[in-house]
Amino acid sequence: MSTVIIIGAGIAGLSAAYRLIENGCTDIVVLEKSDVIGGLSSSFTYNGLIFDLGPHQIHTEDQRVIGFLHEILKDDLIIAQKKASHWFLGKYLNYPLGIGEILFGLPLKVSLGCFLDFCKQTFINIFVKKENDSFESWVISHFGKKMYDIYFGPYTQKVWGKPPAQLAAICAQERIAVQNLFDVLMGAVTTKMLKFRNHYHLPHSPYQKVFYYPKYGIGQLAKLMADYVTRKGGKIVLQAEVVKIVNDASGFSVYSQTGECFNGQRVISTMPIHELQEMLVNNSNLQEKNPKGKLEFRSVIFMFLEINRPAVTDNHWIYFPDRECIFQRTSEFKNFSPVMCPEDRTGVCIEIPCDYKDNLWDMSNDELYEEVIEQAGKENYLKREWVDNYHVVRERYAYPTYDLSYAENLAKIRDYIDSFNGLYSIGRQGAFKYINIDEVMMMGFEAAQKIGRCS
Ligand SMILES: Cc1cc2nc3c(=O)[nH]c(=O)nc-3n(C[C@H](O)[C@H](O)[C@H](O)COP(=O)(O)OP(=O)(O)OC[C@H]3O[C@@H](n4cnc5c(N)ncnc54)[C@H](O)[C@@H]3O)c2cc1C
Repeated sequence: MSTVIIIGAGIAGLSAAYRLIENGCTDIVVLEKSDVIGGLSSSFTYNGLIFDLGPHQIHTEDQRVIGFLHEILKDDLIIAQKKASHWFLGKYLNYPLGIGEILFGLPLKVSLGCFLDFCKQTFINIFVKKENDSFESWVISHFGKKMYDIYFGPYTQKVWGKPPAQLAAICAQERIAVQNLFDVLMGAVTTKMLKFRNHYHLPHSPYQKVFYYPKYGIGQLAKLMADYVTRKGGKIVLQAEVVKIVNDASGFSVYSQTGECFNGQRVISTMPIHELQEMLVNNSNLQEKNPKGKLEFRSVIFMFLEINRPAVTDNHWIYFPDRECIFQRTSEFKNFSPVMCPEDRTGVCIEIPCDYKDNLWDMSNDELYEEVIEQAGKENYLKREWVDNYHVVRERYAYPTYDLSYAENLAKIRDYIDSFNGLYSIGRQGAFKYINIDEVMMMGFEAAQKIGRCS
């Protein structure tokens, strides 16, 4: 039997490990650079409150994923009724916007302006066939300029840190579940209607009313998978950051930051794909040129607040699209599962989008906290005296950024990595895809399937 080395103990890496073991391949080593299991799907406990890295709802219609969730979580699998809002034009409105909010929640001038602009754009689209080459042009051609100016434009600029004209159209196509203002109105009438529209990517649809969630936080999923892997003889090494990978005729030698070497015939990597490319050394083909393409990731600072009252709101999460506010979203975990916090307290996560080592990233935790508290007060979200304590986690690789040249750059890196026999680069960072738990899980299962019984 030959060894399989898995880099990263996030959902993708653990799914691969889990399925390999189920298939009878127990000679597995999972190397994880951090000291926690789960990657982006980790949970953290502070003073009796459980926090996730932002809201994690599992939406899927894939029976293989649903079956697996039942198998691993058993009675701890919750099916939650979604409740989300956004702070828009100075008030809290349901997310997604329903017909009621559009007609009665927004100022008449705004709703009318958006509607007329949408009609005008729809008319233009009939006569002018234009290729949508960016996020901006896609949104304007589907929703009209006014909606873009007041909602999509500012929010997108805040989340991605660059003008939407510099983002690929696919970013809008994949992440905006409804295709135009007409669908917003229809979606408010019935979600079932959307199901008949097979061009919708329903798993991301804000019109999904329910989602799956583990009773003790999203990290419970990774923890149970890791328990299974180690119980069945697989090895998971924490604080083992892979820094170099050498490939020759006998297979792969994977080195951690301590200099320890792990040998294996197959490697499944879930680290960021450009980092994998940089640390690969191919001894049997030294003249092979290692092409360098530029890929960007957006970072997030997560601020966890311990709140000394039973609830802040009854929402799972709330979006804050306005540019003045440094955070993009808040989430409250007690609303996902009541056991996440004691009855008299609650926990909130604030997400601050930024770039690695920019001004926000480098700001001290105390300065960030002051900004957050001041703005949370202004937006009528919470009061300073409700907060007992706060904690900060910085995540460099949160979102792969689909800029205008990412597809070309990714293809070059992918070609290089695919030239290594027995090497699989999967997961959100490993595939450089803006994907969710259900999809990275399937990637892990499929990589394990390709390897088979590792003989
Ligand atoms: C704010 C936010 C909200 C989200 N909400 C949802 C949601 O609602 N629903 C949903 O389904 N999904 C959601 N997601 C996406 C979901 O978290 C990810 O798709 C999933 O967790 C990715 O798993 P992964 O294993 O591919 O990658 P990761 O979780 O990034 O795991 C990769 C692992 O590799 C490790 N690693 C990296 N480099 C090295 C190295 N050199 N050596 C060793 N180890 C290394 C990392 O430490 C990490 O543990 C959200 C993501 C974010 C950021």
